[in-house]
Amino acid sequence: MKNVKSICVYCGSSAKTPEKYKDAAVAVGKLLAKHKIRLVYGGGSSGTMGIIADAVMAAGGEVCGVITDFLYDAEGGHTGITSLLVVPSMHERKMKMFDESDAFIILPGGLGTLDETFELMTWRQIGMHKKPAVFLNVDGYWDPLLKALLPSMVQDGFVRAEDLSLFSAVDIPEEILAALSEKQADVGSFSSKWA
Ligand code: AMP
Repeated sequence: MKNVKSICVYCGSSAKTPEKYKDAAVAVGKLLAKHKIRLVYGGGSSGTMGIIADAVMAAGGEVCGVITDFLYDAEGGHTGITSLLVVPSMHERKMKMFDESDAFIILPGGLGTLDETFELMTWRQIGMHKKPAVFLNVDGYWDPLLKALLPSMVQDGFVRAEDLSLFSAVDIPEEILAALSEKQADVGSFSSKWA
């Protein structure tokens, strides 16, 4: 990808998930390190969040975590990464993760992952950014969102198709960087949804 130095990964903090999601996190971590792309993430050490950070560090890559002071204990701030920024609120955490990143990868995750993803989508909807994002649809995890909910929201006129145009989905980690490059070249122009 052109001019991409840092990619933010949104993913789950739960450790109670099937191995296939953990394997995907390791593969994405290795991919980022191989391409010398810095990982930006939520700074935790649990679940797929911790796994991807460990994978990047083990492969000699760079990791920037962003966590709140109150989550540092609750979620286990990762002390073995390149840099860990501690911020006062969840909103500042999301903003910092956004500011530090050129593109986004959405791995399987829970409510926090959805919150981060939808904020990125809504920021796009109001023209705040042109940063591309890709869902890693491990074993169809995101199908209910990508193939049912979002299309029906577009169909019924609540969401414009073009507001989803920076988002794509791939099935395997090897396809992530090509998908992001394609969207980088195709950012389109912004017009107000309510115009
Ligand atoms: P989850 O997908 O629920 O496992 O959460 C993934 C990450 O999102 C974790 O680091 C959570 O702390 C974070 N998160 C959860 N809720 C929010 C929120 N309201 N705003 C920002 N981040 C959140």
